[in-house]
Amino acid sequence: MQFHGNGFEPGDPELNNPAEKFKSTGAAGALPEEIDVLIVGCGPAGLTLAAQLAAFPEIKTCIVEQKSGRLFRGQADGVACRTMEMFNAFGFAERVLKESCWVNETSFWKPDPKSRKKIVRSGRIDDTEDGLSEFPHVILNQARVQDFYLDIMRNSVTGLEPHYARRLLDIEIDPKNSGKPVTVRLERLDASHEGKIETVKARYVVGCDGARSAVRQSMGLELKGDSANKAWGVMDILAVTNFPDVRMKNVIQSDKDGSMLIIPREGGYMARLYVEMETLAAGERVRSRNITADSLIAAARRILNPWTLDVKEIAWWSVYEIGQRLTDKFDDVPAGQEAKRLPRVFIAGDACHTHSPKAGQGMNVSMQDAFNLGWKLAAVLRGISPPEILHTYSNERQAIAQNLIDFDREWSKMLGSAKKLDASETQKYFVKHGRYTAGTMTKYSPALFTGDAKHQALATGFEIGTRLHSAPVIRLADAKPMHLGHVHKADGRWRIYAFAGEGDAGAAGSAMAKLCEFLNSSKKSPVVKHTPKGTNIDAVIDVRGIFQIPHRGMVVEALPKLLLPAKGRYGLLDYEKAFSPDFKQGDIFDMRGIDRKKGCVVIVRPDQYVATVLPLDAYAEITAFFARFLKVV
Ligand code: FAD
Repeated sequence: MQFHGNGFEPGDPELNNPAEKFKSTGAAGALPEEIDVLIVGCGPAGLTLAAQLAAFPEIKTCIVEQKSGRLFRGQADGVACRTMEMFNAFGFAERVLKESCWVNETSFWKPDPKSRKKIVRSGRIDDTEDGLSEFPHVILNQARVQDFYLDIMRNSVTGLEPHYARRLLDIEIDPKNSGKPVTVRLERLDASHEGKIETVKARYVVGCDGARSAVRQSMGLELKGDSANKAWGVMDILAVTNFPDVRMKNVIQSDKDGSMLIIPREGGYMARLYVEMETLAAGERVRSRNITADSLIAAARRILNPWTLDVKEIAWWSVYEIGQRLTDKFDDVPAGQEAKRLPRVFIAGDACHTHSPKAGQGMNVSMQDAFNLGWKLAAVLRGISPPEILHTYSNERQAIAQNLIDFDREWSKMLGSAKKLDASETQKYFVKHGRYTAGTMTKYSPALFTGDAKHQALATGFEIGTRLHSAPVIRLADAKPMHLGHVHKADGRWRIYAFAGEGDAGAAGSAMAKLCEFLNSSKKSPVVKHTPKGTNIDAVIDVRGIFQIPHRGMVVEALPKLLLPAKGRYGLLDYEKAFSPDFKQGDIFDMRGIDRKKGCVVIVRPDQYVATVLPLDAYAEITAFFARFLKVV
């Protein structure tokens, strides 16, 4: 898609009617006095959480935002491959794929050895390693990402809309109150109610309120880490240039004028520049320097020499310091008191960790925090899991944030030190750490939701603790070529992917048939034990079967009942549970290292991370695994 050709225009590029494009949205009226979950902040973290919770009509959720309406420009723009996988689970990956700019290759530029005042291209590489994800790394304004979430919320069964112009003032937790123990005070900022204080009682509060989080401060937590001493400028521009790679991602290191990143942007004309500016004194804040947009352009021109840059329009710009900071805990339970207290207040996203924007992590990691927390809160509030599971949010995400911050610190140092470093080292580092920036390095350690590696050899490509690395399959009943991972929606359900052993077509007496029979009918089956009466058989645990036999060799009507279940008010058959490899794309059994003789069971969390790998006949272990965190209903 091409747009912004005659100037930057915020909003949906496919809407031409201004009344539609800039329609004011948001919930009308006062906040309810009592709710289940109050989310503070309509950034990427808050909206991911809200979109997840909006899917459950039994959960009363509110999301508040101090701004008067939705975001239209600026802030983050990098969408990592892993984030695209998550967007697919929420149902809007196609919209992002269509509207975004795809980062296919990255160019590296360094001082020309013959004339060091000029830059010269030193290399060009694929941006993302082949096969890392079925989705590309893309660039799209944070405002549009947020719009997509707002649409998901609006179209959900609960029709959730943010309450804008509400500033959280403080929160108070009454640990003795087991009902709605968190009292929140908010101030209205809209002209007709300015200064009015609203009080809300909530079972849970989640602070997605950014780096200066009032929720975090109310909890007595602080962001710890380095304060930056390097100023960077960021600018979204429409410009005429003879720089040949302006539609690529570029890492540019000049001789004496610092570094710059060029990020090609959606619409085909716009580009984002991240420009290295001045070194700040210890404790000095960037705003004291009075850096202007003109000084950013001048710096960009010096770095780009000998290429020209004629800026026609600045759509958005900002200046910031690099800072990598992190809180010790992402919930209100002090370390060591987990056995005595249940968490009631959480923080997510920039409220608990801040990164430099150059590794493109802030928005991505923030959304992944919320995806981790969302299904857990939903499981507790829907009575599927006990509240103790909520401790895992801080444990899992704090460790991941620490990891990413260490990476970001190293990457920022590298980009900011062109004078000391050979540009080829930057390129090598970029390649080596591509999986971090793609968001696929996240690995949860063995704990409540993550099994040990005892049976990992049965599926070496589905690494326990990492996200399910999808692969192509053919759906049996209608021969649709698709990705197995795309059945995994953001609906709070657990998945069991059962991979059949050699020759197993699911016929009576086969390992697949016996597993399905156990899961469908045994009193000990986790599917039977944890699925509420009167709901579909796959309401809590969704079982899928993948066979080695080509799809035309399979007999659909002979599939085990669990793979052809009757569902809904009419008992219609669900034909979308069984798959064969898509041999034209590659055999999933080879691609993901599945033991062909034995097959296996891969259990996957609602947020798409592999929880454990077990043998097809390990009924007791499958049962015991789910019993760790699902209630008997
Ligand atoms: P945020 O996106 O910060 O969202 C927090 C929300 O909470 C905001 O909408 C805020 O208005 C609201 N809020 C705050 N306090 C209250 C309160 N008391 N009551 C009610 N609402 C409240 N990243 C990049 O990769 N590249 C960039 O160039 C870049 N530029 C940025 C520029 C700015 C000005 C900011 C703020 C961030 C920028 N980032 C950038 C970082 C990136 O946007 C964040 O990492 C990402 O948005 C984190 O998402 P979040 O939901 O945790 O927080």
